[in-house]
Amino acid sequence: MLGFLAGKASSIVQNPAIDYKKFALGASWAIFGLESYILTRQLPCYSIPAPPAALADHIPEDTYKKSQAYGRDKTRWALFKQVYNQTLNALYIGGGAYKWVWTLTGGWMAKMGFGGDRVITHSLLYAGFFTIVSSIPSLPLSAFATFGIEEKHGFNKSTWGLWITDQLKSYAIGAVIGLPVLAAFLKIVDYAGDWFIPALMIFFLSFTFIMQLVYPIFIQPLFNKLTPLPEGELRERIEKLAGSLGFPLKHLYVIDGSKRSGHSNAYFYGLPWSKHIVIFDTLIEQSKPEEVEAVIAHELGHWKHAHPSKLMVVGQINLLITLSAFTLFIHNPAIFRSFGFSEDVAVRQQPVIIGFFLYQLIMNPLDPLISLLMNSVTRRYEYEADRFACALDPRYKALLSSSLIKLMNENLSSPHQDWLYSTYHNSHPSLLERLKAMDDYQPSEKLVVKDEIKREKDL
Ligand SMILES: [Zn+2]
Repeated sequence: MLGFLAGKASSIVQNPAIDYKKFALGASWAIFGLESYILTRQLPCYSIPAPPAALADHIPEDTYKKSQAYGRDKTRWALFKQVYNQTLNALYIGGGAYKWVWTLTGGWMAKMGFGGDRVITHSLLYAGFFTIVSSIPSLPLSAFATFGIEEKHGFNKSTWGLWITDQLKSYAIGAVIGLPVLAAFLKIVDYAGDWFIPALMIFFLSFTFIMQLVYPIFIQPLFNKLTPLPEGELRERIEKLAGSLGFPLKHLYVIDGSKRSGHSNAYFYGLPWSKHIVIFDTLIEQSKPEEVEAVIAHELGHWKHAHPSKLMVVGQINLLITLSAFTLFIHNPAIFRSFGFSEDVAVRQQPVIIGFFLYQLIMNPLDPLISLLMNSVTRRYEYEADRFACALDPRYKALLSSSLIKLMNENLSSPHQDWLYSTYHNSHPSLLERLKAMDDYQPSEKLVVKDEIKREKDL
């Protein structure tokens, strides 16, 4: 049955009558239309004169006005960015940039004395050049977001010097990590033959684990400083909480998030037996120790419910589907031809890198669907982590609520959200939804007792 379906799908995608370039162009415009429409639905929310009744007591008038102005500016800016990026996108696809860059970098290869059979070297040059050149037009946009919008609303703490070194560091990391990973990816597809899917899945899984080790030691310090949370009430509270749950807390850090931005947060990471909690200095400044403790209780809820591992499994399933579908396209001359590649490239060379780039363009319409699905999963996880905190300690409900309200006010998040905008964009439920869910939640006696027993056991 599966074989039959694969055969059927293969004969459809090999159909020379399909103009893949036209399809990719049409798909990019369709997504542009959809996303722009969603943004325009959110815009009127910033003209609503008062906060929702349930939050009216918690949002000072001045803060509300500021958050509406900030949201309006951000959404207008997002609309502008849509138009800008889609224009470029259409130029790349319509203007034949994919083929043009392959020919250009092929010319460089010949000048450097490399033969036409060095497909992987050529592919690295191609990907490097394409990535750098296509990222240049977005630099002014990124600078304006930081020094225009964030600055205007009082969030930007970055300087031009810091911003420029950040960009250079990002390019350097992209080259140091991205190019070897891409080379390995291409080599695996080349050598593993029919087994390239399981081989790639093992490769990417190992890569994820290695990054868990490498990122905090080598990459994060390039951007931020992590310092151990000093001894005191907050440290004691968090250590006690982590200990009571059996959380393998190795290090407890404060991150200087305030170096670049006034937004605040907390998270954990690490290997299953050795975890680190990181708290933004801004969160500590804005909240009381018991409120930060409640936020960490929520974070530990993510850990207890194994959300990061589950998301990793979802990621692997996504990878499996992506790669399985890729097998239908990888040796399909029709795609190469419709993007203007010569017969030599389309039939003989069939570079994997080009195949993968074009395949992604064709698969783009699935992106909104995948992000919708992912958002619905992560939103469920947020509710689950909130419920975990509420069940753990009856005080956490009020503390987490007040901390979330503070975060909303400090981050100037708008309390009004269009439902479609929220469904499409938000990985977290809105504050109102979370407060309501926590209010409605009554931890059953059984659950609390079960947790008590478990905690005693863990102690
Ligand atoms: Zn969360």
